[in-house]
Amino acid sequence: MSEEIVIVTGGSRGIGASVCRKLAANGRKVLVNFAQNSGAADELVVEIRAAGGAAVAIQGDVGNEADVLNLFAEADRLGTLTGLVNNAGVLDVAQRVDEMSLERLNRIFSVNVLGSILCAREAVRRMSTRHGGKGGTIVNLGSASSKLGSPNQYVDYAASKGAIDTMTVGLALEVAQEGIRVNAVRPGIIDTEIHASGGAPDRVAELQSKLPMKRAGSADEVADAILWLMSDQASYTTGAILDVSGGRAILP
Ligand code: NAP
Repeated sequence: MSEEIVIVTGGSRGIGASVCRKLAANGRKVLVNFAQNSGAADELVVEIRAAGGAAVAIQGDVGNEADVLNLFAEADRLGTLTGLVNNAGVLDVAQRVDEMSLERLNRIFSVNVLGSILCAREAVRRMSTRHGGKGGTIVNLGSASSKLGSPNQYVDYAASKGAIDTMTVGLALEVAQEGIRVNAVRPGIIDTEIHASGGAPDRVAELQSKLPMKRAGSADEVADAILWLMSDQASYTTGAILDVSGGRAILP
């Protein structure tokens, strides 16, 4: 029987890497996607295999359709797809909307929104019972910013995550009878390198005292929520958007 496989986009660092470690520890074979930093992806694969797990690293920009097709073709070669974690996401330096270039907007929306929808499309084509698949789960990475709007920082990023909330609900209903559950987590401030990539390496330390729990969350704390949404324990949960934000932005 073909081995079951889960794709984690942006699985090489941060929240995605924690998801890969935990899935592999639970006996799932993981396809660790990354964009540029092959060193981090290779290191993670070595770590997972040393711990007795199964993982393969695949380069690919989720904002590029050819790369997405290649990623899923690779999954087909390795086993039967039963899960997708749409985790790859990018932000940019703090700017007002009246300063943003089209190049910046294209990058944010093609990775965060188009990438997630293209990957979901490929996953549904493989997992849906409508297409002869055996079902599966999709978890999308939203953000508390979809409710906050992130003024003077990155309204573009926040808007892209608003699209993820909407896509989660719509796709969940579209495939509810086809053996696929679609959910999202909406993290608050999580201690990863994404803040440095947005030009604010001290963001976590600076914001900590303003957060409800007086601390940022860890990648592991978000990954635990994702693993639950993917598990059979969540068998009646679909279209849910779970705030994993330590109380930040929990009101609608
Ligand atoms: P991170 O530490 O910056 O890691 C990003 C990961 O995504 C890396 O593995 C990176 O690969 C990969 N990646 C970047 N662009 C990609 C692309 N075009 N195609 C494929 N992979 C790509 O990020 P994180 O903080 O773990 O965030 C993960 C997700 O959670 C994102 O969707 C983010 O928006 C969301 N989130 C994070 C926070 C937070 O505070 N950290 C809060 C709310 C939501 P390379 O190493 O090759 O670049």
